[in-house]
Amino acid sequence: MMVVNAWLRYRSHAQGRLATQLVSPKAPVGRPRILSPAPRLSRVHHRSAPPREVRLDGHNHLPEWSQSRERCKAKDCSAPSYVKCAKCNKHLCLNKSRNCFARFHTA
Ligand SMILES: [Zn+2]
Ligand SMILES: [Zn+2]
Repeated sequence: MMVVNAWLRYRSHAQGRLATQLVSPKAPVGRPRILSPAPRLSRVHHRSAPPREVRLDGHNHLPEWSQSRERCKAKDCSAPSYVKCAKCNKHLCLNKSRNCFARFHTA
């Protein structure tokens, strides 16, 4: 009797596990969205690439203290910095030895 009980418990346990596996769906990934054309305008606001015109326009590029320390995005520099440009949203050095902030916005 004990053996049967154990087997039944094992069986329901196994079924439970199987059901859980079947219920938890795997999100479909990598599905190409052919029908939606990429709007060109949204690219302008892309965080990672401020256009050269914006970077050099000299308007409202103010240093801002960031919560996170990230690598400097200026050319030939990858030092970690807390300072970032509020407009470009890019981390840039601004300290005693380096002013990548100015360099980034002038070249
Ligand atoms: Zn900037
Ligand atoms: Zn730097």
